[in-house]
Amino acid sequence: MHATLPLLQSTDFLAPRRDAVEILQVNLGYQCNQSCLHCHVNAGPNRTEMMQGDAIDLIPRVLEARGIGTLDLTGGAPELHPRFRELVSKAVALGVHVMDRCNLTVLFEPGQEGLAEFFADNEVEIMASLPCYTAANVDKQRGEGVFDKSIAALQKLNSLGYGQEGGLVLNLVYNPSGPSLPCSQATLQSDYKRELLKHFGVVFNQLYVLTNMPIQRFGSMLVSKGQFSDYMGLLKGGYSDANLGNVMCRNLVSVDWQGYLYDCDFNQQLGLALPGNGHPHLRDLLHSDLRGNAVRVADHCYGCTAGQGSSCAGALHN
Ligand code: SF4
Ligand code: SF4
Repeated sequence: MHATLPLLQSTDFLAPRRDAVEILQVNLGYQCNQSCLHCHVNAGPNRTEMMQGDAIDLIPRVLEARGIGTLDLTGGAPELHPRFRELVSKAVALGVHVMDRCNLTVLFEPGQEGLAEFFADNEVEIMASLPCYTAANVDKQRGEGVFDKSIAALQKLNSLGYGQEGGLVLNLVYNPSGPSLPCSQATLQSDYKRELLKHFGVVFNQLYVLTNMPIQRFGSMLVSKGQFSDYMGLLKGGYSDANLGNVMCRNLVSVDWQGYLYDCDFNQQLGLALPGNGHPHLRDLLHSDLRGNAVRVADHCYGCTAGQGSSCAGALHN
């Protein structure tokens, strides 16, 4: 795979400053039951990196010490971590809202029986990737048979009260399949709602439209095809000042499977640690806040300010 960090490090992107941490985003490990083409963490069934017990034990302590309101769990497939349900239960007992970045098909993996019911019982917000509402496009990007399983998972979640207005929250995430900026979130959301309801009886709350980041598998593919600098030109050309105020690194801190801290998941995948001495760790958050610190930026940050942006809160600027 081609390294993209050397192509991104020289940047004129204006570094934002941090507010208080409101979201603790934790990567529980890189194991996943899928190996999608655009996965920016290169997750897959053969990855063995998984958060160890001492770091897992720190999470509820940090949530409490910093008064953080949201725990955002990601991976890989975070549900495959053996302590996933224990961690969610502990966070919920502290009054913390839990969000799970779910690939949907994990619901049907061996050992994951009752997962959907567990989500519902704990009012876990589901952020589910579904790159299209047609089988052909989803299977091309995420693997053979993934679409049918994803629809079955959505139907199961709907049956438990997910996706209805005022009910449990089920959001979908879309990213384009090629080196282009995604189209309007509002337009695509209404297409998704219409098609998924008409063909499968599936409902959901919101569609988040994300820009592909020029890193990891996707960035490497751009390099291989000689499209890297054109794609960077597209991201820079799509820059919007209005998106800079809402980038997720202002109020989120990202934690890797070893407990080290980053300004966001993209920086984590590039190995760009929080600025400062040494490499700050989850345990440092027991005693200190990050408010006022500058964010570590590189050229991939233009992916967060182009068009809809790529911060997982979805469209930053409509
Ligand atoms: S489901 Fe998500 S974590 Fe797993 S390989 Fe696909 S993009 Fe990566
Ligand atoms: S890539 Fe990360 S650090 Fe850069 S602007 Fe986006 S969220 Fe912030």
